[in-house]
Formats: sequence, C-alpha cells, structure tokens
Amino acid sequence: MAFQLPALAYAFDALEPHIDARTMEIHHDKHHAAYTNNLNNAIAGTEWENASIEDILANVSKIGMPVRNNGGGFYNHNLFWEIMGPNGGGAPSGDILSAIETHLGGWEKFKETFNAAATTRFGSGWAWLIVTGDKKLAVTSTPNQDNSLMDIAEVKGTPILGLDVWEHAYYLNYQNRRPDYISAFWNVINWQAVTAKFNAAMK
Ligand code: MN
Repeated sequence: MAFQLPALAYAFDALEPHIDARTMEIHHDKHHAAYTNNLNNAIAGTEWENASIEDILANVSKIGMPVRNNGGGFYNHNLFWEIMGPNGGGAPSGDILSAIETHLGGWEKFKETFNAAATTRFGSGWAWLIVTGDKKLAVTSTPNQDNSLMDIAEVKGTPILGLDVWEHAYYLNYQNRRPDYISAFWNVINWQAVTAKFNAAMK
C-alpha cells in the first residue's frame, strides 16, 4: 500500500495574508507530492514497502538517504498542513499550556525559543515542538527533512508542532526575510490540532 499525498483540509488561499496561495499550491502539489512519490519509489519492492511511516523513520539509518530525505519530507509536510489552518493563531490553554510553563519557561519564553530555533537553523530544515520520551516538551530543530522520530535524531520525541524553514516555504512572498515568515506563522497555528497531538503523545 503506497503512501498517499493527503488533500489539504483548507483552500490554498485560506492562510493569506500570512502564507500566500501560490506558495501553498506549489508546496503541496509539487514539493510534498514529490517527497511522497520518491518515498514510494524508494521503498517499492523492499521489506519496508508495507511498514508504517513511523516505523520507517525509526529505522531510517538502516534504510538509506533517499528514504531519510523523502520519508521525512512526507511525514513533516503531513504534520505541517495539519497544524495550520484558517482562524489560527492565539494561544493554547489547559494541560499543554501548563506543560509549556513547566518545561519551556512560559508562553513568551517558548515563542522566543521556537523563533530562535527557526531563525538560526542554517540552510534548510525545520523547527519543532516535541514531546520527549519522558513526557516533557522540548523545542528542537533539524536539518533538511530530518525529524525527531528518526533514529539519527539528536533529540528524540514525537513532533506536535513544526515549522518548515526551507526557502520553498516562504521565498515567493518573503524572499530572504525568514524572520517575517516565522512571525507570520504564529497567526496560522491551529492550536486545537496541536493540542490533540500533545494529548495523544502524553498517553
Ligand atoms: Mn517544505
């Protein structure tokens, strides 16, 4: 059963003015589609052909770079589309906010740490909010299409929020102004979706 490119749950222009429709269309229909196709091609006829994406990522050091890059790209973009949406922004509440206060020094400090992780990731990669194995929140960043589910990750855990800082994610609208794109991202975060991932990871 090959992996499928998921449909976006909202229109390409639903995140405007923060993320423009043309960027969303190319990002989903071209970039994410390519990662999905390349992942399927890389695992076709191998022992990983019917494995879950989580299982593949957890063993990626044994499988090879095409699967690391494209399996990561497939998973990371699935998550990225899910944790954004129209009517996004604001702040979470309840247990996830308590965890941000306990483990990350509070809401403002968390935003500062996450922004710094996204800004200082050199070249292409991602900034993350993850739930670690000991059920703590942590902010991390990874190069390229790596993520914290991979056996090669420096800090391991379940991603619940991710920001794509590849230039393809922002260049049409923001050119070289990555910090402006990072600021805008806070307006499109779907905290309901992030909270659902937090609750699932804490079980
Ligand atoms: Mn991307």
